[in-house]
Amino acid sequence: MTQAQPLFRFAPSPNGPLHLGHALSAILNHDMAAKSGGRFVLRIEDIDPARSVVENEQAIHDDLAWLGLEWEKPVRRQSEHIAEYQNRLDRLKELGLVYPAFLSRGEVKAKIAGLQAEKGDWPRDPDGGFHYPGDDRQRSREEAESLIDAGVKHAWRLDMKQAVGMLEAPLFWREISTGQEVRVAADPASWGDVILWRSDAPSSYHLSVVHDDYLQGVSHVVRGMDLYHATSVQRLLQVLLGLEEPVYFHHRLVLGPDGRKLSKSEKSKSLGALRAEGATPSDIRRLVGL
Ligand code: GLU
Repeated sequence: MTQAQPLFRFAPSPNGPLHLGHALSAILNHDMAAKSGGRFVLRIEDIDPARSVVENEQAIHDDLAWLGLEWEKPVRRQSEHIAEYQNRLDRLKELGLVYPAFLSRGEVKAKIAGLQAEKGDWPRDPDGGFHYPGDDRQRSREEAESLIDAGVKHAWRLDMKQAVGMLEAPLFWREISTGQEVRVAADPASWGDVILWRSDAPSSYHLSVVHDDYLQGVSHVVRGMDLYHATSVQRLLQVLLGLEEPVYFHHRLVLGPDGRKLSKSEKSKSLGALRAEGATPSDIRRLVGL
């Protein structure tokens, strides 16, 4: 049997200019693809209309081309495939694994404050966010439907306990960042009832990423360590939806002068700004430690 060609992807969200952390990710994906005789695609993760800016998308193309990277065209833009993510959500609805969650952000905050006062603490996910405190999962289907019919805003959340209960074997993902393939035990329950469809934006990162990785035939997910724990949720969704699993390579993060991870929102120096100051693509490779 012939092995399919490896496929790597760089999947930025166009909510700000690319910085050195993105450069490391993009270059690693590109170079690993080249070295293994594989393919390299760019995917624009623009499901959040409030944060995605078309100009940033053009800048992503310009920055990557300036770095000397080449990727396959056409580029997949998630905003053009919402119906596909909706189908995935519908499947989870059929399986009875998601529920409509009606608490607003303010209500969530207030509820957690109350629970903390009562119980002392409330669980947090690996990113430090609180687990969803609502008890909407106990609501009857009829009641939930009548609220939805009445136009009450809602998100869709995974019933984590139920979902984990469906697993027939312990959940692992395959990690190759140490140079060897190791099996990492996934712990999706550490995230609580994750959101899979938002009230103010369609789909969610987790749902669209697993669908796209599968659909595009991604064999290697190479991305920053900041998404290491998110893999637990994504592995669970892959099992629930019957999607093939890629292998994962979570790379080190590029830290700023303050030792903290670079982020678009904290105005880390963008690749565009470095270029304007006269940096060359090989300077960028050096700056990210390649
Ligand atoms: N779109 C995500 C981000 O920009 C990355 C998704 C992934 O690599 O899985 O952080």
